[in-house]
Amino acid sequence: MRKSHLFCWPLLLLAVLCLATGCRSSRSVGREPFVLVVDAGHGGNDQGAAGRRSLEKDINLKVARRVCKRIRKKCKGVEVIQTRPDDEFVTLDDRAGMANFFGADLFISIHSNSARGWAEGTETFIHPSARGSRSERMARLIEQEYVKHGRKSRGVKTANFAVLRGTRMPAVLTELGFISNRREERFMKSRKGQKRLARSISDAFVRYRNSLP
Ligand SMILES: [Zn+2]
Repeated sequence: MRKSHLFCWPLLLLAVLCLATGCRSSRSVGREPFVLVVDAGHGGNDQGAAGRRSLEKDINLKVARRVCKRIRKKCKGVEVIQTRPDDEFVTLDDRAGMANFFGADLFISIHSNSARGWAEGTETFIHPSARGSRSERMARLIEQEYVKHGRKSRGVKTANFAVLRGTRMPAVLTELGFISNRREERFMKSRKGQKRLARSISDAFVRYRNSLP
């Protein structure tokens, strides 16, 4: 059964505060302010995938925070909202609902992959109905930026993920790498690795936004 779109009000309040403190500028690029929602996958009692020394929810959050910080610093006229600024549980419906409620222009969900066998590299998902759309453009830019920063890209893929299905704006879900792969886990857990991943996503965002009419 579908859950109704009732928000967790403390989270909503937090999001409103983030919105109120977002950067503003007189420089005009497209429609302002551009509202970006950054979603760190999992959280609280939902830890996501587990590596040998780290949990997916922690890596997702650290990279998401860096993405937000970098975009707030570098981009004028962008309001950045985090679906979960801390280690807390938020339902998938609330994540998408928050983006819809704030009329977001773009939704970026950040996750880490896991596989039973050996696997490596990044991949970015869009909803199957979003082929040829702005979602696909953003997904391609993220994968291009990962490659520029030395990562191996597994490409852009489609999946009927709840947050991609439930959001009414261009939306991507990016997988930073495989936490199940010892070498990638070490990279994703490191400060240097997290910086590079966040830089890839934020640089892709800058290119995406500059490409808008
Ligand atoms: Zn995940």
